[in-house]
Amino acid sequence: MRRPLIAGNWKMNTTVGEAATLVKDMLSALSAVNGIDRILCPPFISLQRVSDIVKGSSVEVGAQNMYFKDKGAFTGEISPLMLKELCKYVILGHSERRQFFGETDETVNAKLKAALAAGLLPIFCIGESLEENEAGRTKDILARQVTGGLKEIAANKDLVIAYEPVWAIGTGKAATGDQAGQTIAFIRNTLASVWNNETAQSVRILYGGSVTSANIAEFISEPHIDGALVGGASLKAADFIEIVRQTAAIKQ
Ligand code: PEP
Repeated sequence: MRRPLIAGNWKMNTTVGEAATLVKDMLSALSAVNGIDRILCPPFISLQRVSDIVKGSSVEVGAQNMYFKDKGAFTGEISPLMLKELCKYVILGHSERRQFFGETDETVNAKLKAALAAGLLPIFCIGESLEENEAGRTKDILARQVTGGLKEIAANKDLVIAYEPVWAIGTGKAATGDQAGQTIAFIRNTLASVWNNETAQSVRILYGGSVTSANIAEFISEPHIDGALVGGASLKAADFIEIVRQTAAIKQ
């Protein structure tokens, strides 16, 4: 059985004070839900504060990005070793990083290797653009992203993959549960051929893209979907709590 997981990607939102307020608004309700991993991914500058607030609870923290070197002359970057003191997870290869900051399968691969070497658990994001989707290239793109991202990385059951079709992120146009379920089944098959079937059956694969408390049930009811990476709705305490509650109840 794969343990369900809901991660909130706060993106470039919340000051340190706002992040502290948001986590305090969610913490007791999130802590009360069992049988599910709950991860909050605030901006770098709030990681310390949010980690301090959730300490002693079952809620965990993740970063949204990192560089692939441990230290050195890389002005403005954050290393795996720095994150390791503050959080357990790190989102890597998010489509906004690929789209706006030039990340490629090669750089995402280097980041995945560095995160795993440091003992961080990556949430590895993949997804096709609208253009690629309309051209019928979804499977090719996803297979390329999985194969390229995981190049020379040994099979690892702790990796988390997030399938986030770019056309569904922040647009209010979510995929249907059926579409996402079928695509995630394809990703799991691809993973089985890159690694092996046993590992592929154990890796958690999330859906992401305009998930809300109103549509989460549709995704979570799909057998191959193990949870969600939530952007916009993770900034609203009541919505995020409801997403976590519904997921735990459906996957029970
Ligand atoms: C995301 O940022 O990973 C995301 C899925 O955003 P949203 O839920 O806002 O579409």
